[in-house]
Amino acid sequence: MSDATSLYAIVTGKHAETPDICAVELRGAGGRPLPDFSAGAHVEVRLPGGQTRSYSLCNAPSDRDRYVLGVHKSRTSRGGSRAMHEALMVGDTLQLTAPRNLFALAPEADHSVLVAAGIGITPILSMA
Ligand SMILES: Cc1cc2nc3c(=O)[nH]c(=O)nc-3n(C[C@H](O)[C@H](O)[C@H](O)COP(=O)(O)OP(=O)(O)OC[C@H]3O[C@@H](n4cnc5c(N)ncnc54)[C@H](O)[C@@H]3O)c2cc1C
Repeated sequence: MSDATSLYAIVTGKHAETPDICAVELRGAGGRPLPDFSAGAHVEVRLPGGQTRSYSLCNAPSDRDRYVLGVHKSRTSRGGSRAMHEALMVGDTLQLTAPRNLFALAPEADHSVLVAAGIGITPILSMA
C-alpha cells in the first residue's frame, strides 16, 4: 500500500455481531470525507501488526460519511483477522486504500438475485 494512494480513517465503532464476526465503523480522519463507493467494493487495510488485508464495505453506498466492515475471525489466522478482532480499538487510526470494486452489480440487469454464505455476505449486504 503506497502512502500516495492511501487514506486514513478513525475507528469510530466496533462491536460483535456474532462470537466470530465483528463490525468495524470507520470515518475519515480529521473530519475529512471518505471517497464514495459502489456496492461490492472493498478496501485494503493496513492492520495494527503491519499486514494488509482486504475487507468489503457492507454498508449502503448512500451512507456517505462512513465505511462499515464485517470481519470474520479465522481460527487459523496468520494475524490479519486476529488483529482486527483483538488489537484494533475504537479511536485507532487505520491506513487504507480507496475503495475498489471487482464485484459490482450488473448495471444492465433487470433484477439481481443475491446469494451469499458465511462472511461472503458482507458485499451482498451493501448491494441489498
Ligand atoms: C476482495 C476481498 C474482500 C474480502 N472481504 C472480507 C470481508 O468482508 N470480511 C472478512 O472477514 N474477510 C474478507 N476478506 C478476507 C480477508 O482479506 C482476510 O483474508 C481474512 O480476514 C483472513 O486474514 P487472516 O490474516 O486472519 O488469515 P490468513 O492468515 O491470511 O489466512 C487466510 C486463510 O488461509 C488459511 N491459511 C492460513 N495459513 C495457511 C497456510 N499455511 N496454508 C494454507 N492455508 C492457510 C486460513 O485457514 C485462513 O482462513 C476479503 C478478501 C478479499 C480478497
